Amino acid sequence: MILIQGEGVSKGIASGSICFFQRSDITILDVPATNIENEKVRIAQARKKSIVQLTNLAEKARREAGDESAMLFETHAMLVEDADYVECILTALEKQGCTAERAVEMAGEQFSTMLAIIDDAYMQARSADITDVTRRILNNLMGIVEAGIPFESPVILAADDLTPSETLHLDKNKILGIITQGGSGNSHTAILARTMGIPAICGLGEVLKPEYDGRAVCMDGETGQAVIEPDACTLEAFQAKRNSQREIMQHMETMRGQPDITIDGRGIMLYCNISSPKDICAVQLNDGQGIGLFRTEFLYLAACDYPSEEDQFQAYKRVAADMEGKRVVIRTLDIGADKQADYFKLQKEENPALGVRAIRVCLNRPDIFHTQLRALYRASAYGKVAIMFPMITSVWEVKECKRSCQNVMAELDREGIPYNRDTELGIMIETPASVLIAEELAEEVDFFSVGTNDLAQYTLACDRQANNLGKFFTPHHPAVLRALKLAADAAHKAGIWIGICGELAADLDLLNTFLAIGIDELSVPPSAVLPLRAKLRGSVAKACTLERLRC
Ligand code: PEP
Ligand code: MG
Repeated sequence: MILIQGEGVSKGIASGSICFFQRSDITILDVPATNIENEKVRIAQARKKSIVQLTNLAEKARREAGDESAMLFETHAMLVEDADYVECILTALEKQGCTAERAVEMAGEQFSTMLAIIDDAYMQARSADITDVTRRILNNLMGIVEAGIPFESPVILAADDLTPSETLHLDKNKILGIITQGGSGNSHTAILARTMGIPAICGLGEVLKPEYDGRAVCMDGETGQAVIEPDACTLEAFQAKRNSQREIMQHMETMRGQPDITIDGRGIMLYCNISSPKDICAVQLNDGQGIGLFRTEFLYLAACDYPSEEDQFQAYKRVAADMEGKRVVIRTLDIGADKQADYFKLQKEENPALGVRAIRVCLNRPDIFHTQLRALYRASAYGKVAIMFPMITSVWEVKECKRSCQNVMAELDREGIPYNRDTELGIMIETPASVLIAEELAEEVDFFSVGTNDLAQYTLACDRQANNLGKFFTPHHPAVLRALKLAADAAHKAGIWIGICGELAADLDLLNTFLAIGIDELSVPPSAVLPLRAKLRGSVAKACTLERLRC
């Protein structure tokens, strides 16, 4: 039995076999082939397998996301059969006398470079497609399961670290829990795990060894403890905790349908954070009263190319309609920093958290912003949609966002497409700059939502992704709480509402402080709604103090 300790980032007890995440790190040796004819057969088989996979993926995409998403995989299948591409592979094989792997790699590089240098966004996107297709054929040649879990039954997934897009692509039904060597509680991977309700521990470091693959483990996503090959007694203790958590959850069930008010009648809107239309199910199950943050970038991360206006419209419309008139705050694209999609071709930066991310990407790339705004406004006809802009630091940025909204509305008017002209516009307060000019910003918008993950990162000068900052990264820091108070006072002075959608919103220890500050809304992972409601309904707002704001 081996006890390992990390940071618990998503509550819950799980036990099962460890399965190490397989990332296809492809290394191809430049060695001559022993039999060219054999290599040709191998290439033909790998292409055939790729086509079958892509056809299945297209069918799945058509069922779950519509025709346009399906087309992407159909295009990839066509590329596998493209005569020029295949000829290029076979020529490399024959001329160089190399292995099938090397020939496919060379042809892929040649084709994608050729397309990437053409000054045309469409052709450049096809370059990314060739890279994807080449990788798939290589995986099939080498027997690599891409980002896969080679088991049918659910497992505890172990990894050095997971990127948000890797997490997003996982088959949730196969995962009981996640344990990683790196990562931190504020990383987007941890946030996704919480939203999906999967127990998770990160920052285990070297003590999580690849040789544990296949061994039994039990884990506690609250304390951060994992036990490899637990004895019967330990298993029983974990099981007992799981049972008591179930009992608490059953008690929480009594909170369903109860109003979100304190004993003395102060109301707070308890909303949910989601990353996909699929999360609405968890919102309804946990009785969330609205969506306070829909992180739309995950639609982009899940795709291999820019999602079209229609695909986005369908996703936003579904969320708006499913929430049946409850407010749905949809945040515009917040890509960059740890959230990267290759096809954006964002420049590599020394300090990506301080670089071109979020609203900066949208203001630099008006075409992408315009497509998303059109989809959002079209969806506004189907529910109570509000639009929120991330990472604001200046008034001019907000004015430019509003101008883009005006342009989209004028366009929809001309085209006779219905939308809600009074769609609320809000901004995220997640930079110290936005706190300091909150009064001016409040004059421009209908609401504020504080992103405490980034606000803490930028206020405390602590990388939210790092797991070695320990006591230095304390989102409870009075500076962060005072920033919240400054923003709340500015919002209320201008007569607008203010919420919190960062992870701090779910912190039961801070609820009384939020009441004292005057926060109007808290947006949290779905599973946090009922515990928060229980605490809220036992609190007296008038008795809450600003004590925690003192040093
Ligand atoms: C935040 O920064 O608190 C926030 C909600 O945005 P994200 O975590 O997606 O950066
Ligand atoms: Mg943020």
